[in-house]
Amino acid sequence: MRLQNLYSINILSMSNVRVRFAPSPTGPLHIGGVRTALYNYLFAKKNGGTFILRIEDTDQTRYVPEAEEYIIKSLAWFGLTPEEGPGLGGDFGPYRQSERKDMYGQYATELVEKGHAYYCFDTSEELTVWRKKNEAEKNHSAKYNHATRMSMRNSLSLSQEETDRLLKEGENITVRLNVPEGRTIHIKDEVRGDVSFESDELDDKIILKGDGMPTYHLANIVDDHLMEITHVIRGEEWLPSTAHHVLMYEMFGWTAPSFSHLPLILKPVGSGKLSKRDGAKFGFPVFPLEWFDKEENVTYQGFKEDGYLPEAVTNFISLLGWNPGNDEEMFTLDELIEAFDPARIVKSGAKFDVDKAKWFNQQYIIAKPNTELAEMLMPMAKERGYDVSEDFMIKFAELMKERAEMMPDFFTAGAFFFEMPTEIDEKMAKKKYKLENRTHFDALIGSMEGMQQFTSSALESVVKSYIAEQELSFGAIMPILRLGTCGTMKGPDLFETMELLGQETVVSRMKDSIEKFTVLKNAQNG
Ligand code: GLU
Repeated sequence: MRLQNLYSINILSMSNVRVRFAPSPTGPLHIGGVRTALYNYLFAKKNGGTFILRIEDTDQTRYVPEAEEYIIKSLAWFGLTPEEGPGLGGDFGPYRQSERKDMYGQYATELVEKGHAYYCFDTSEELTVWRKKNEAEKNHSAKYNHATRMSMRNSLSLSQEETDRLLKEGENITVRLNVPEGRTIHIKDEVRGDVSFESDELDDKIILKGDGMPTYHLANIVDDHLMEITHVIRGEEWLPSTAHHVLMYEMFGWTAPSFSHLPLILKPVGSGKLSKRDGAKFGFPVFPLEWFDKEENVTYQGFKEDGYLPEAVTNFISLLGWNPGNDEEMFTLDELIEAFDPARIVKSGAKFDVDKAKWFNQQYIIAKPNTELAEMLMPMAKERGYDVSEDFMIKFAELMKERAEMMPDFFTAGAFFFEMPTEIDEKMAKKKYKLENRTHFDALIGSMEGMQQFTSSALESVVKSYIAEQELSFGAIMPILRLGTCGTMKGPDLFETMELLGQETVVSRMKDSIEKFTVLKNAQNG
């Protein structure tokens, strides 16, 4: 009976898991953001919980209008669909903080009334003068906090009368958190264990700005509370802010969610956080989809445009900061949900390894059904001006998939399937072609022309029996057949290639090529 009760309590609490991905729409989604979204998604799904998208757009100065749509499209590309969010509905909306802006003021007031926050009347000019003075005096650690607040213009330092007067004037009043003195603030981070901060090192953060908008700190915790978020999973850069957040939960008398701070994604070489410049420098994307940066007037290619499959990128980034505890590397999204254990998120930063990313992509290309690959390849072929049938594309996908790391590789490594390359491997042609074999090639071309069924097996038997009858070596014939039809020595099985190219194409290419090789050889012989 007891056990049964425990079990049902467990189920109940598990299904209450609510996590959020809370990006600020200040630009495109960085690969680190995608990983944060992914871990939140996996954790929610693993626990039968809810994955929420919340747009944190309270900082209007950094707002980029296209960013929200970009974020939503990117999540969709990976299949990380939120259950609640802007445009999706849910019982805890709106999910855009700008649409919730009227909710926050009362919480700031509540903290002021409880003595946990106070009004500030310092103008930005006054604050600039103060900062400059501190700099000049090399007082670098000076902060707006317990040590300095009484020398500033705020409701703690000014008389009640003066405060009331300034509040009535109502110009540019901010609200700051009254961070207590001499406290050690403990954070239980699920990734890092116990982390502590000295309150004396913290500043009295602004929670409500002069325009009445909340800052990130207030909006973030009010929304996490109102949206009943149970677990906060976010990047390590937010760990220091968590000290303020934990204090605020305490001040409101709310239960704080559990916190997990994810390690940084590091540059492929050297140290430091992966930036968009690294992507450009090392030749790999750091954004999921193409992004046009208006300020720089530069378009950044995304993983999608570079020819990565979303499932490969998901698999790859899942392992940047987490491991399954064994050697297994290949995980579909469903398998990740199954395997994901937040206890195995690591503390140390994870290096972005582009070769590994490509390796994953190749594995997913190989594993993908040919019909699905063909579906992706058809529009790519069209863009390149090739008009081929779907059947052709399915077979092409089958033949070339082992040779493509990225989707566009199909069209570089397999270019000869669409047209005879203008640049052929002449060096190899000169080496392998012997003028005395001309008659053999003419005979072989003749036999190919006469074939009723132009299949790989029929081709194989025609060519092989000719070689045997004439007592020739494979090395004298096969390379020239390949060069003659493909222009290169690199490619999938030759007979299969020929079958797909078709009788007419193979025969006409071979005729042309033999002429060319003869000319080349004559020129070489002087
Ligand atoms: N808006 C913050 C960001 O852009 C959210 C941080 C958090 O998850 O609390 O990353």
